[in-house]
Amino acid sequence: MHPGSMSTLDRFDRPLRSLRISVTDRCNLRCQYCMPEADYVWLPRESILTFEETATLVDAFTSVGVDRVRITGGEPLLRRNLPELLEQLAAKPAIADLSLTTNGVLLRDQAAALRAAGLHRITVSLDTLNGDRFRELARFNELPAVLAGIDAASRAGFDSLKVDTVVLRHRNDDELVPMIEYGKSVGAEVRFIEYMDVGGATHWSMDAVVSRHEILARLASVYGPIAPVEGRDSAPAERFRLPDGTTFGIIASTTEPFCAACDRSRLTADGLWLLCLYARGGLDLRRPLREGATRGELAQLIATVWSMRADRGAEERLGAAAREAFIPIAALKRDAHLEMHTRGG
Ligand code: SAM
Ligand code: SF4
Ligand code: SF4
Repeated sequence: MHPGSMSTLDRFDRPLRSLRISVTDRCNLRCQYCMPEADYVWLPRESILTFEETATLVDAFTSVGVDRVRITGGEPLLRRNLPELLEQLAAKPAIADLSLTTNGVLLRDQAAALRAAGLHRITVSLDTLNGDRFRELARFNELPAVLAGIDAASRAGFDSLKVDTVVLRHRNDDELVPMIEYGKSVGAEVRFIEYMDVGGATHWSMDAVVSRHEILARLASVYGPIAPVEGRDSAPAERFRLPDGTTFGIIASTTEPFCAACDRSRLTADGLWLLCLYARGGLDLRRPLREGATRGELAQLIATVWSMRADRGAEERLGAAAREAFIPIAALKRDAHLEMHTRGG
């Protein structure tokens, strides 16, 4: 434990603070950089944690330092009765920040219920403002639904909306400025994400990555000088300000990773705890939970495993010689837990 706080520190003194919980591995889109294959093997239904089980694990995590929880997937809004889980989590005083990442397709109908359940913040993933391109990138013609979802979230009172855009060379890299302008028009902060070679990114190549450096140069050529916003802490996004005051973020996980301050871990929908986005394996928490372990025993297990953590996956990938997709398709087909849509991004 860190003196004076409840945080548990790993081998690089990084606290355990932020937990991303995937509530389903299913998705209603098929983004090229995440789920490009024809078929997927899904987690067995009986292995999916119930809301009560998830809440018990969250109690164990918060007792050893977690105070930020993000709900993700697959597509989290596909999980039936999700507001019930959010209500349970929002009632826990130990959680200072409760957020959700969604593709937005189902958001229009759910935004008000998510707000009423106590969710604090929403991030919507949106890679293009062009309908034809949306269908090419995500297989389904859902751009109007996503835009309506963002609008509904704003009207439901989510006032710190974020829009996350994965930038892909020759696919949507001509939309940096339109995305910034769209963000301004709906009061959302846009964050550009470098294409990562994780999980289902089986078509990944360095040529398709548009780097933080290039994104900044292109935006500066249109808007003028860009200033960094101070005070980054452990957030994966670095924030910047345009001359007119508009802020935006860049998540440079591929070319300038930020593992040194990483306080994030991930829980899959079936209770596998992953200490790094690039981890090849994790700790099965479902088994002890279903075998009757107490919250204290689970907390002890979590703290012990975190204290041995030395992961810095993205930094290690930087040193990879001929860099290609991290996980070959054959390995992905054998183990669904290696998929990005299973680990929650
Ligand atoms: N389905 C939801 C969504 O798309 O927002 C939540 C899960 S998705 C796996 C979470 C985030 O991971 C999304 O913002 C998505 O763009 C991002 N992501 C998936 N594959 C990626 C990749 N290869 N490189 C960078 N970001 C990726
Ligand atoms: Fe796209 Fe998210 Fe679905 Fe992956 S999980 S295919 S990023 S919408
Ligand atoms: Fe954290 Fe692993 Fe991502 Fe590095 S690669 S920032 S250690 S999750």
